[in-house]
Amino acid sequence: MALTTPVIVATYAEIALKGRNRQMFLRRLMNNMRHALVGEPVADILHVESRIIVRLDDPEAAPRVAETLRRIFGLQWVSPAVPIPRAEVDAEITADQAAGREPRLLTVGKVARELAAADRGDAAHFKVETRRSDRSIALTSPEISSIVGGEVWDELQLPARMHHPDLMVNVLVLKDDVLVFTAKGTAFGGLPAGVSGRVMVLLSGGIDSPVAAWLMMRRGVRPEFIHFYSGRSAEEAEAEKIEQLVKILGRYSPVPLNLWLVPVVSYESRAIGVITDAYDMVMFRRFMFLTAARLAYKRNCRGLVTGDSLGQVASQTLANLAAVAPDVTLPVLRPLVGMDKMEITAWSRKVGLFETSVLPYRDCCSIRSPKPILKARPQDLLRYSEQMQMDDAVYEALRAAVRITIPEAG
Ligand code: ATP
Ligand code: MG
Repeated sequence: MALTTPVIVATYAEIALKGRNRQMFLRRLMNNMRHALVGEPVADILHVESRIIVRLDDPEAAPRVAETLRRIFGLQWVSPAVPIPRAEVDAEITADQAAGREPRLLTVGKVARELAAADRGDAAHFKVETRRSDRSIALTSPEISSIVGGEVWDELQLPARMHHPDLMVNVLVLKDDVLVFTAKGTAFGGLPAGVSGRVMVLLSGGIDSPVAAWLMMRRGVRPEFIHFYSGRSAEEAEAEKIEQLVKILGRYSPVPLNLWLVPVVSYESRAIGVITDAYDMVMFRRFMFLTAARLAYKRNCRGLVTGDSLGQVASQTLANLAAVAPDVTLPVLRPLVGMDKMEITAWSRKVGLFETSVLPYRDCCSIRSPKPILKARPQDLLRYSEQMQMDDAVYEALRAAVRITIPEAG
């Protein structure tokens, strides 16, 4: 039997630790939830005793809404739940006690049985866990777990197990309701989108930089994206793949995202005959950094994000990372710097980026000279920059930048 339910219950983790910022973070989190659920049959979103409860007008929407909420940063877990009015539960307890019986919690037990039966799968054991956010109920948490556990046992004929049970039945006692739920869908934690300010992400068509963007988004930043392409016009950029990646990242953002497409021809035309093959890669990266930094200032971004992972390729030696743009004063955030490719790929899959990232794409980095210098010297980079008039290359590139907003308005 498919159980449908009019309530989603969610918890947040990290926010609880944030002292005075807590109220602001919570407001932002709930606003982000509201944004993400525009168009869904949401009756209200309430902060109830350290949990967030979403009441739905249409129970059928519960699984979909829960899935959407799983992508809201700041939430720890999200679960559809069945609410039972506290008044009803309290009245049953009182009636049982008046009749000289042990309380039976029949209504809660019935819902727990139904949920457990629907979700049992091939579970070999189960556990009922009770939390009393409101302690005015006449039973303790262990008492409630034991009574409801008896009901579930009757239904499933499975042993209870306290540690690592296959199936969890949760009972949450609130002031006005008792919530019963089985699945605790883990969300990604982190901080609510927007609390950490804006950053400019250097986004390539590869596996790494989209993951880097996602990891920083999980720390509450609002990203803008800059992508460099070879070719003379944005139409020539074959940017569908890049747009698709931003679209996937946009599923984790409460607001539309901006992608800037920037041609690299202004670099290439000036580099010819001036920059040696050995220096082409690092100089090109310098061009990307300077251009991204200038756009970042214009767009009020307080940092740059890249997908660099130390030593992964020749251009990412420590010496090269340090030499490329010593004159860029914005912090450069490199969340992948200590990860290996397997970890990065695992994230890519988990986030839903991988299939798109591995589609064929001719990145303008991949057409650079294959043998870059491993220890570029900053003074050489600066001298080359003068010789090729790097500043002009950057200005020209930005003049030709095209902005795409994803998803488009309307
Ligand atoms: P990725 O998987 O992100 O492409 P990579 O392992 O291929 O990274 P590089 O090609 O050396 O490594 O790029 C390092 C970083 O430089 C990228 O993670 C990205 O942040 C930035 N970058 C590379 N190419 C581009 C591009 N065409 N446009 C914007 N940023 C880029
Ligand atoms: Mg790449």
